[in-house]
Amino acid sequence: MPKTAHIIGAGISGLSAAVRLANAGWQVQVHEATQQAGGRCRSYFDAATQLTIDNGNHLLLSGNSHAIAYARSIGTEAGLVGPDRAQFPFIDLASGKRWLLDLGNSKIPTWLFDKSRRVPDTSVMDYLRLMPLVWAKPSQLVGNAIPCKGTLYDRLVQPLLLAALNVDPPEGSAGLAGAIVRETLLAGGQSCRPLIARAGLSDVLVEPAVAMLRAKGAGIHFGHELRGVTMAGDRAATLDFGADDSIALGPDDAVVMAATPRVAASILPGLTAPTKFRAIVNAHFRFDPPAGLPALTGVVGGLIEWLFAFPQRLSITISGADRLIDMPREELARAIWRDICRTAGIDVATELPPWQIVRERRATFEATPEQNALRPGPITAFKNLFLAGDWTDTGLPATIEGSVRSGDRAADLVLAMRRA
Ligand SMILES: Cc1cc2nc3c(=O)[nH]c(=O)nc-3n(C[C@H](O)[C@H](O)[C@H](O)COP(=O)(O)OP(=O)(O)OC[C@H]3O[C@@H](n4cnc5c(N)ncnc54)[C@H](O)[C@@H]3O)c2cc1C
Repeated sequence: MPKTAHIIGAGISGLSAAVRLANAGWQVQVHEATQQAGGRCRSYFDAATQLTIDNGNHLLLSGNSHAIAYARSIGTEAGLVGPDRAQFPFIDLASGKRWLLDLGNSKIPTWLFDKSRRVPDTSVMDYLRLMPLVWAKPSQLVGNAIPCKGTLYDRLVQPLLLAALNVDPPEGSAGLAGAIVRETLLAGGQSCRPLIARAGLSDVLVEPAVAMLRAKGAGIHFGHELRGVTMAGDRAATLDFGADDSIALGPDDAVVMAATPRVAASILPGLTAPTKFRAIVNAHFRFDPPAGLPALTGVVGGLIEWLFAFPQRLSITISGADRLIDMPREELARAIWRDICRTAGIDVATELPPWQIVRERRATFEATPEQNALRPGPITAFKNLFLAGDWTDTGLPATIEGSVRSGDRAADLVLAMRRA
């Protein structure tokens, strides 16, 4: 009888653990509370724009090795689309100035030494002042590690760290910011090529995993919400899904808890987990991108932060967006559209096209030193139950890369598990 791994949660962390375990010959059962896989990384048909949109524009980088390996393992690596060189067009809406940050495609950050490729009006010295981030502790504040003002900060460090940490950078964990700098800017252009799931998050990162799991005989149970776990000695013995619905675990069975931190902490006694979260706002406009508009444009000095050009659609991202949660929707859509017009060179008098705003209130855990200290590792008091999720202690902020790393790590612990 094959050993069974029960995966709680079909977000990216749960799916990546499930795929790894199914590939290792385990019988896999995925239990997802909602009716759809993908968690915070999913697509759906939107009636307002009559388009399939993602809950959020997700950007991966070519150095996200675990995320890319996961895509490869489900046959969709080619669905992560990006340019050959790590080039990032930027605009400052306050001054109207445009520039191209050209990180190139080498393994070492040679771009730093080429004035025409780095951020305009910055010197090599400015970049060297970022080095304390590289060895900073997670308990340190970004604001205490590097200068959070000046041209380089305004034009590169602030947008990069805000996108990665989803908090105003000075209050973020310097250790988490350091991981980003090490794995991106310092790793050379080869690791920084922007990659987008052009056909949609579900098509590229979610549904193929579900299909592959099913083809391998895995059970995918939607609307199956874990309510509790009973323990016998130091092992999880029963998974409780409510009214007369429970699963008794065999002696060799394992559980990967890949649900949200709130759920994990309520089900597993004594577990500490992040308790504070930050919002991300995405807005989608049904509008054909003007010819020549790059797939991704960084924006500073405005309301929007990143403009994505998709077929038939312009979409934007605003991170650390708690201040916008209660703003009237149409007012927000109009303000965003104004920024899009100026960024994309569209006549500002153009009528507001069909739009949708997606406000994810609890998009990511707060990447502050305080909240980072609450992240648990994958091992629990239960010998056969392991944790996964972007909120576990991955060393990274809440990202797809962190989710996949956590899923891979939990799966590896299951594979190494021995009966007590
Ligand atoms: C708007 C937005 C934009 C983002 N942008 C980026 C980006 O550009 N780049 C990037 O790398 N990352 C980005 N992220 C972060 C990324 O989406 C997350 O890190 C990742 O999706 C988290 O996956 P997860 O599996 O760890 O958690 P989740 O996606 O939260 O998955 C948890 C799953 O568990 C299920 N669940 C909960 N309770 C139970 C229960 N009791 N029983 C069974 N199932 C349960 C949930 O329904 C959910 O499906 C963004 C996130 C958002 C919201």
